[in-house]
Amino acid sequence: MSSNHSDNLFLSVTEVQQRIINDIKAIEGIEQVDLRHALGRILAKDVVAAFDTPPCDNSGMDGYAFHSNEIADNETLTLKVVGQSFAGHIYTGNITAGEAIRIMTGAQVPNGVDTVVMQEHTEKPDENTVFITTIPKPYANVRKAGDDLTIGQTFLATGKKLSPTDLAFLATQGIAEVAVKRKLRVAFFSTGDELRSIGETLGEGDIYDSNRYSIYGLLTNMDIDIIDMGVIKDDRQAIEDAFNTAANVADAIITSGGVSVGEADFVKETLEKLGQINFWKIAMKPGKPLAFGTIGDSLFFGLPGNPVSVIATFYQFVQPALKRMKGQDIVLPMIIKAKTTELLKKRPGRTDFQRGILAQSDSGELTVRNAGAQASHVLTSMSNANCFIVLPAESGSVEPGEMVDVQPFEGLIG
Ligand code: AMP
Ligand code: MG
Repeated sequence: MSSNHSDNLFLSVTEVQQRIINDIKAIEGIEQVDLRHALGRILAKDVVAAFDTPPCDNSGMDGYAFHSNEIADNETLTLKVVGQSFAGHIYTGNITAGEAIRIMTGAQVPNGVDTVVMQEHTEKPDENTVFITTIPKPYANVRKAGDDLTIGQTFLATGKKLSPTDLAFLATQGIAEVAVKRKLRVAFFSTGDELRSIGETLGEGDIYDSNRYSIYGLLTNMDIDIIDMGVIKDDRQAIEDAFNTAANVADAIITSGGVSVGEADFVKETLEKLGQINFWKIAMKPGKPLAFGTIGDSLFFGLPGNPVSVIATFYQFVQPALKRMKGQDIVLPMIIKAKTTELLKKRPGRTDFQRGILAQSDSGELTVRNAGAQASHVLTSMSNANCFIVLPAESGSVEPGEMVDVQPFEGLIG
């Protein structure tokens, strides 16, 4: 990776996403975890069904089971009840012509019957007789063995982020442990002489370091092991030491601030000395400067300093990249369409990621509106937002009523 040739070019968001993601391989490490600890982890090996599920034909209803041969053109049917099959308690007797058994949901459908009528479609004139008032179709209400999974089938694939449903899915196969990717380790620090940590007193012109907290939250929501290295002074040796420490312990390093044009040059110099870094200008708002590359074996992301730019660039570039590193299959933010209820101001040139509020109208239509002032230091609108409204580079202002692209937040709210 060369650090100079692209210095004066503006790259598109998509181009940068592709350049970053194409370079990244999933980490190698795998660990075996029990089912409960697998929630939210990334599956590292395909999981194959060891037997059919459901394991046997069973009833989908509370009712009566009988053979489909009993079904004729009659409007009703009267059968003799010869026994019962409850969930976990199988009926083992014979069933012959003119006979039925009482059956409950989930109970095995025994040999000799293949159709279930729901209780609501029956009457019970006496203890041993069932009168079927609405005759079901042959094979109705029977859940066949292997309906869900057949033996040998890969039912969860490598790269899947395991959901609560997936835990249930694994449990249906009696699987107690799965192989997942080890957790990523990500180190981060802030740079800037104006930055103070919480608990310190603000001097003239100082501000509190807030980026470390958005980055902490974003990484924590991604189930990543974090190494918070604090604020590093704009000092050559301090920066170099911080990068070296971070590269030794982490799979990826994230910094904020210090990558824009006009920043003290030694940040760039240090990065160039220690790693292979590209300094990009991206045609996006908020955002623009981004440094990306490697220091030792670690990936490096140098994000811009403004608090909203940090979040926007993290969401567009770092989150997809880290997902890829984690071994996840789907990495780019989802985009949906919504109707803007307000004028969205924009000048052509850069892709805008405007902070928006996505809602659903009474008729079910997705609508979006502006979440407030859009400057890159304003956290108020970022806090109110639940989505980015993505306005393409060439687009000017968008009139109320037009459809726009929206990225609902994932890992940024709630
Ligand atoms: P820089 O990219 O270092 O020039 O920073 C751009 C703007 O973001 C400046 O106003 C900085 O004060 C601000 N900034 C940089 N880092 C942080 C941080 N960690 N927390 C809050 N604001 C920051
Ligand atoms: Mg700075």
